[in-house]
Amino acid sequence: VQEISNILDGKALRERILADLKKRVEALEEKPKLIVFLVGKDPASELYVGNKEKACAQLGMRSEVVKLDEKISENELIGIIKKKGREAHAMLVQLPLPKHISEERVIEAIPPEKDADGLHPLNMGKLLRNEKGIVSCTPKGIMRLLDEHKIELKGKRAIVIGRSNIVGKPIAILLMHRHATVTIAHSRTQNLDELILENDVVVAAVGKIGLVKDVKKGAIVVDVGMNRTEKGFVGDVDFEKVKSKASYITPVPGGVGPMTIAMLMENTIECFEMQKK
Ligand code: NAD
Repeated sequence: VQEISNILDGKALRERILADLKKRVEALEEKPKLIVFLVGKDPASELYVGNKEKACAQLGMRSEVVKLDEKISENELIGIIKKKGREAHAMLVQLPLPKHISEERVIEAIPPEKDADGLHPLNMGKLLRNEKGIVSCTPKGIMRLLDEHKIELKGKRAIVIGRSNIVGKPIAILLMHRHATVTIAHSRTQNLDELILENDVVVAAVGKIGLVKDVKKGAIVVDVGMNRTEKGFVGDVDFEKVKSKASYITPVPGGVGPMTIAMLMENTIECFEMQKK
């Protein structure tokens, strides 16, 4: 007997995606290589980078982490990315960067066809125009998870809370391309709690515990938030309160996070294949 659940299980889907990608890599004579640039010693960043290396190894792909001192200058970092990047099929700069370095300038140093995170202005522009390009891993993973459960978005009202380049903006665009009517909320939005209740889809990408306290009955709830506590990671949504009202909900951990890694692996292979064409 199959248990009926409204949990969007990103971990299980990640495993299926990675198994498929592994076969795709096995069929390749040359193995794709991902290079990650890590500046400084932020423990969270080190953890994420370690997970990316592990996933590459699991798929039989090559990876390298270039560790750099937090005092490195912007120009020096850009020089290293340009030089070292020639050896990579795909690359990314782990964010955030130290305050004295412009993330925008550094991201522009990544060739768009090697931009595993889809943050280069050319890839972001393609996303805006609904053209094929490399799409940021977390938003791409969210769409894959919704598609896996055949969740219809057409005509739905969706609210995205958060407007970052890496999550909020791209997920809002992707939902719009699927014909949802999208509201983007952020730190200056007023009456957020009321606004959330008007929406059929809620994507929370802020980094604030307890931000989403209640939703409309039957809402689809995607929790991107990753807030560190003594008991581990918790999301932006009050899971226990919202779970019974939602038709679907992502847990934290085990929802969006695993999908992000799976999509990074897929993007790495896509970069490789694009360059081999
Ligand atoms: P960010 O700090 O760049 O952006 C946060 C956004 O939240 C901003 O746009 C800001 O306007 C908005 N905001 C701040 N306070 C608010 C409030 N009170 N009400 C409404 N909006 C508010 O963050 P980010 O990089 O987009 O990440 C957001 C969260 O998602 C973080 O917890 C991060 O750790 C997590 N994250 C998870 C994954 C994953 O794979 N699961 C990937 C990326 C980010």
